[in-house]
Amino acid sequence: MSTILPGDAARIAHTSRHPQPIGILGGTFDPIHYGHLRTALELLEALDLAQVHFVPCRIPAHRATPAVTAEQRLTLVRLATLGQPGFVADDRELRREGPSYMVDTLAALRAVVGAETPLCLIVGTDAFRELHTWSRWQSLTDLAHIVVMQRPGILQPLPPLLESFVTPRVIYDANDLRRRPGGGILFQPVTQLNISATQIRALLARGHSPRYLLPEAVLAYIHDRGLYRSPSPALSLPD
Ligand code: ATP
Repeated sequence: MSTILPGDAARIAHTSRHPQPIGILGGTFDPIHYGHLRTALELLEALDLAQVHFVPCRIPAHRATPAVTAEQRLTLVRLATLGQPGFVADDRELRREGPSYMVDTLAALRAVVGAETPLCLIVGTDAFRELHTWSRWQSLTDLAHIVVMQRPGILQPLPPLLESFVTPRVIYDANDLRRRPGGGILFQPVTQLNISATQIRALLARGHSPRYLLPEAVLAYIHDRGLYRSPSPALSLPD
């Protein structure tokens, strides 16, 4: 279920001369956690975004296929975002065949919202440092702004190829996001939460609790379906 409807897009695009930007946070969300949710809420408020779309990928382009199905990861995103105004669980990558490329996702959203509404691709610092490995990465800013949210422990300089792409596009004023539909790169500080899905999967696999790192409803679903359990001892014993 995609949540921007043609009517919504028209409303967003025409209520003011500078329409509110829409944020897009793509990820594996394997599983979604407070590192995603808290930072997204801060951006929603700080940048006055109309919405933040959480877009789980169908087949991640940059990592091994997760053990949990795409539909289950989407369900976790739905459970986590339910009830927060402005948060949208967006299934558009699950409805598309093949690997999930963000450039295709942005083009699809651009077609829905029209040429004027600013789109903001939201990425963590770690994902941003790999941007030059993404499919058709130099086209991303033709379709959207990029908002980089700070993540703990990632302070190294950018790779030179990325640095030369970024430098002329950096914007320092969040208001610039709404003055044009895309093309800028904004570095936005957010509360540093050193939480990762990797850590949560590892805790669950060891039989430990990841409670307070992710929403209770997400954890309840994980337990209910027996997701992220360690392989059975029989399978991990040596021959
Ligand atoms: P994994 O540990 O499996 O690699 P992850 O926790 O990094 O997963 P993803 O779904 O890969 O989660 O991340 C989606 C996006 O959210 C990426 O842009 C990533 O940089 C960002 N992100 C993830 N965790 C945090 C966090 N704690 N703070 C800020 N951004 C985050």
